[in-house]
This record gives sequence, C-alpha cells and structure tokens, in this order.
Amino acid sequence: MRAYDLILKKREGNELSKEEIKFLIDGFTNGKIPDYQMSALSMVIYFKGMNDRETADLTMAMAESGDQIDLSEIKGVKVDKHSTGGVGDTTSLVLVPLVAAAGIPVAKMSGRGLGHTGGTIDKLESIPGFKTDLSMDRFIDNVNEIKAAIAGQTGNLTPADKKLYSLRDVTATVDSIPLIASSIMSKKIAGGADGIVLDVKVGSGAFMKTLENAEKLAEIMVRIGEKLGRDTTAVLTDMEQPLGHAIGNNLEVKEAIDTLKGEGPEDLTELCLTLGANMLKIAGQVENYQKGYQLLEKLIENGKAFEKFKKLVQKQGGDVSYIKDPDKFKKSENFTEIKAKASGYLSQLKALDIGMAAMLVGAGREQKGDQILNEVGVVVHQKYGKKVLKGEKIATLYHNEENENTKEAIDKLNNSFIINEETPKSRDLIYKIIE
Ligand code: URA
Ligand code: CA
Repeated sequence: MRAYDLILKKREGNELSKEEIKFLIDGFTNGKIPDYQMSALSMVIYFKGMNDRETADLTMAMAESGDQIDLSEIKGVKVDKHSTGGVGDTTSLVLVPLVAAAGIPVAKMSGRGLGHTGGTIDKLESIPGFKTDLSMDRFIDNVNEIKAAIAGQTGNLTPADKKLYSLRDVTATVDSIPLIASSIMSKKIAGGADGIVLDVKVGSGAFMKTLENAEKLAEIMVRIGEKLGRDTTAVLTDMEQPLGHAIGNNLEVKEAIDTLKGEGPEDLTELCLTLGANMLKIAGQVENYQKGYQLLEKLIENGKAFEKFKKLVQKQGGDVSYIKDPDKFKKSENFTEIKAKASGYLSQLKALDIGMAAMLVGAGREQKGDQILNEVGVVVHQKYGKKVLKGEKIATLYHNEENENTKEAIDKLNNSFIINEETPKSRDLIYKIIE
C-alpha cells in the first residue's frame, strides 16, 4: 500500500477500506507517512467526507494508536461525559460528584484548557493541594472506594489524534465532521468508557455554529458509538452565551460548589441534571430519564452531591477548608465593572469575546504551557433576555495589574453585551437529545 494511492482514491470519491485507514493512521503515528501527505488526506476528507463505516474505522484506528485504558477493575458500568467545548463550561466539576452520589462509578479523564475554553484539570488544580496526576492504580482504587476520580490524561493515549489535530489546526481542516467525530470518539474509547454522554455545543461560542451542523456531528458520533458497542447519547445544548455566571478557575470552582448545594445558576443546574440523568439511564441505574433527573435533584437537595465533592477533593489531596469556606480562595487585586450602555433587553452575549476577555487577564492560556492565574476571570451577572437599565452592572472583570491586556479585555467586554428595545425571542438551553 502507498499513501499516494490512498489519497488519490479518496480524492476520486471512493471509500477507503478498514485496512487502508489503519495503514494510514499507523504509518502517520510511527512517522513513516509524512505530515504533507496526511495534510493532503485531511483536506480530501474535508471535501469528500466519510461514511459511517469509514468514520468508525478511523475512530478505532486512532483509539488503537496508543495505550488503551482498562477500567474492568472498576465495578459497574462506566459512563463518560464529553463536552465539545464552550465558554465557562463548569459542568464536569458538578457532574462527577453528582453522578457518583447516585452510586455510578465516574472515572473521569480530563484535559487542560487552551484559548477561550477552560480545562477541568486546571480548575481542580486551583484548589490548594489538589492532585490530578494519579497513577492508574490509584485512579481505579479511588473510583472503587468513593465512586469518583478525576485525573489528567495519563500515558500515551491516542497519539494519532494528537498529531493529526496539530496538523488540522494549521491546515484549515479542523471543522470536518468525520474528523471531529473520530477525534472525540477515539479518545473516549481509548479511555475505557462503556457508555458515553456527549454534550454537543451549538452557537457562536462553540465549534459548531449552527444547529444543523451540530446535529449532523451528534448523529454521527451516536452511530459510531453504537457501531463500536458503546451506548451513546448526545445532548445538543446552547453556547450562544457563557454557561452559568463564572469564567475562570476559582470563580468556576465556587460556582460548582453553589450548584452542588442547589444555589447555582439555573442554566448550569439544568444542564448538569440533563447530562447526569442520561448518564444514569445508560448505566441502567434508572428506568427512564425523568426518574434520573428527579433522583439527581434529590441528591442536591439532601446534600449528598456536595458531600461527594468534598470527599473527592479530600481523596485527591485538596484542602477541603476551601470548599467549606470558598471565601478563602485568593482574590484578584482589582476588578472592573461593566455597565449597561442603554436600557433594554440583553439580546446577545458574545460568548467567544467574553471568553477571550477572561483569557486576556490570565484566566486562560494563549499558548500551550502558559501559566494560568486562578483568581482572575469574568462574572456575567445578567444573561440573555434579561431587562437591564442604563448604567446597571452586567458583568465584572476580575484582574490583577492594569496593563494593555486588561484594557483590551475591558474593551472586549464593553462590546460583548448587545441591548435591544424589544424582548428577544426566548431560546432553549437544551435543543435536542439524540440516542
Ligand atoms: N474536539 C476534539 O477533541 N477534536 C476535534 O477534532 C474537535 C474538538
Ligand atoms: Ca460557568
């Protein structure tokens, strides 16, 4: 087999076989197929697409390109959750203890943030002492003991995806549905999940800007999951505005604590209950979605979900006194309030720009390896559809020194909230659930 012939074959609109896809992915992973051929292949896939069978084979070839985690030592059905990435997405911090409190084992591997999207690992590490570099044995033991563990990606998981993603990033081939679907699903499968709940974000703050494209992506991922024997559900959710109020590590940890106590933002709470109920359903813990939803609501009400979070923090070396008294978290040196420019209804919140503003003051990484400041970020006080008065506080930027970046962040925020005289049409948080 030669990579040239396979690129040509795909270019001519023909299907690639399982063996051909495996040959390409293995060759690329071990360096025998150069970047320029893989770039050409990515572009051909971008234009010609892939059918379900090809996408499933690509997913498996990438899942098998490195270590595959064996979670069979954990008792019960392991259901993983994945978000396609958004602004202020605090769900994993809430969902892991919440679902674990229902008795479902949650072995969560998470990543670090890049750009305007935050990473669960960074958020947790902002709790003093919290360790995320668990050995595989410790990770599994923790889940067996307290039903929950969150660790950074260990070992050599899906090296093919890492390499391919870097190439796609610089060759304008990221937003190809089969390439995104196989990238996400290969990581979930290599991570050892029996079942998968996907939070597919739609809107200006997400990869998928339209409901139509998000739906296509969600459907393909669900079909791949089924093809590969993993019970998969996708939930299409709104990312036109940041989720919850908080963006930034400590701010989001506090928001997660509030939510676990039943005092969190409405949208974040609703999303966590929806995703969690689908996880319980896949795990076979409840007979239907409604029962799952009610059970999780109760676990928040009776304090068990919050108890589980404290246990998780303690088990991974974190200082629980910060969880009991979130005022202990270090405060930013300064803050700037963003005021409404006119009276009216908030008709647009530019999620991407709000996320960028948080990143500019140090809440996110511009480049891999950048240091994150835990105490800075943005709190959005008023959300889509709310009536505001001219001069009313709509957001607060928490920052340290006043420098060029701070000025740019304030400018961005000042232009991120669009106010209209008419009430904007109501928008759903959950668009659709695909099983
Ligand atoms: N997230 C991923 O993990 N992979 C993609 O290709 C896009 C989003
Ligand atoms: Ca948030």
